[in-house]
Amino acid sequence: MRYICPNCFKIADIGDEKCQKCGYDFKNITNDDYSKKLITALNHPDYNVQYMAAKIIGELKIKEAKNTLIEYLKKDRKERDPYIEQAVVAALGEIGDKDVYNYIKENIDNFSVLSKNIALIALEKIKSRFN
Ligand SMILES: [Zn+2]
Repeated sequence: MRYICPNCFKIADIGDEKCQKCGYDFKNITNDDYSKKLITALNHPDYNVQYMAAKIIGELKIKEAKNTLIEYLKKDRKERDPYIEQAVVAALGEIGDKDVYNYIKENIDNFSVLSKNIALIALEKIKSRFN
């Protein structure tokens, strides 16, 4: 499991128990707090932080991130990075419900070439949870 420091948003190396920059002890991360920080990190000015936040949200299946993830996809195309978009779509595949399914399906042509395949996989994943 890889962390983003909830205090200074430094991306930790795999296996780090403390933040190398500010010393924050990752043991102190309570799930709720950490989820909120990750959602905030989706709008962080640093590209790498945004990308890692989307990845971790998918790994941890943080459902509360749904609206923020969708907001990212609603941004103007030139403001979206194809790699972050890909991570966002993949995360939505992990947490998505019927609304997310419909949104991805209707907007799949607005996604980058990279994200389209991920979007198709995400749709299948979401669909498998419907029943
Ligand atoms: Zn830190």
